[in-house]
Amino acid sequence: MSFQNPVFIPGPTNMPEAIRQACYMPTIDHRSPVFGEILRPCLAGVRKVLKSESGHIFIFPSTGTGGWETALSNTLSAGDGILAARNGMFSHRWIDMCQRHGLDVQVVETPWGEGLPAAKYEEILKADTAHKIKAVLATHNETATGVKSDIAAVRKALDAAGHPALLFVDGVSSIGSMDFQFDAWGVDVAVTGSQKGFMLPAGLGIVGFSEKAMKAVETATLPRTFFDVRDMAKGYAANAFPYTPPVGLMNGLKLSLEMIEAEGLENVFARHRRIAEGVRLAVKAWGLELCAASPDVYSDSVSAIKTPEGFNATDIVTVAAEKYGMAFGVGLGEVAGKVFRIGHLGMLTDAMMLSGLATAEMVMVDLGLDVKLGSGVAAAQEFYRHGS
Ligand SMILES: *Cc1c(COP(=O)(O)O)cnc(C)c1O
Repeated sequence: MSFQNPVFIPGPTNMPEAIRQACYMPTIDHRSPVFGEILRPCLAGVRKVLKSESGHIFIFPSTGTGGWETALSNTLSAGDGILAARNGMFSHRWIDMCQRHGLDVQVVETPWGEGLPAAKYEEILKADTAHKIKAVLATHNETATGVKSDIAAVRKALDAAGHPALLFVDGVSSIGSMDFQFDAWGVDVAVTGSQKGFMLPAGLGIVGFSEKAMKAVETATLPRTFFDVRDMAKGYAANAFPYTPPVGLMNGLKLSLEMIEAEGLENVFARHRRIAEGVRLAVKAWGLELCAASPDVYSDSVSAIKTPEGFNATDIVTVAAEKYGMAFGVGLGEVAGKVFRIGHLGMLTDAMMLSGLATAEMVMVDLGLDVKLGSGVAAAQEFYRHGS
């Protein structure tokens, strides 16, 4: 494995050297005002990335999975109804967590490769006249299949049904790399982590709560201690945590947010869209297809690429790592062995992406796939030459 090569897994993502340096800092007293100078800009910066005016931001020493648990345990009670669609490994895991918390999940089985079924959600919500469903789960970007879903459409489904359920959105692989509109979409809890769009090591679970979600915190009875947002809010009021904060990671997050702001949030999204489009053109030139069923659900942060029947897609990831020291993502769950994934989020340039495409081509030729060396690279080059 060469540590000089970028990684093309859909998280953790490549880290800018400056962010690595920012994480590596001397010990400070986390109960001194110096910590407030790290905490405050982090909370304000995350709020901006979420496009929220008044969302309550909480940062936990955790990961995205802890963010899921923060959403559930702070707002719900045992036996509460949940509406969720399973269209990939990450939506599956969140459903599993709900069940382990004693929540009553109505699962809409959805083909892997398709987006969230907003029309089906609307139908179910309309039928739930007793309002047993307390929260609707929505995975904005299914990292297992490279599928983006329309969160505005899920909000519309809730509104059309006149249903008061909370809307929880997993934005772990979209926030900071694809457009996310907390306020405009009426999101009640948004969940993300540090190691994807924010270009940091894993270690932070980051959530945004709406006023409505904060109200639900007062009546929810699921047990919570470490992830209790009330304790966290109390800590923040004194520029502190209820326990020891991960100061170095948060110093890195502060810089990450400054870098995103300096590039311009919309420019960050446009860069991800451009790089992703180059990858999609390469896939087409290879004669392969995406797992994502249609262009409206193509993800700009990860592409899951189907390989021919009878071929083990995981071999691509193995050979890329062993022979070329480059990391791609394996297929997960239902699509294990059927797809390999190219992560294209975080700190990435056109030129870095071309190196990933060139390596993927070599591996596919090594493994006997009918792919022409240079074909995908040329298709992406032709596109990247013309800029955004
Ligand atoms: C990575 C990811 C997660 C899990 O996050 P961890 O930080 O690994 O706990 C959850 N949801 C999605 C969509 C992800 O991509």
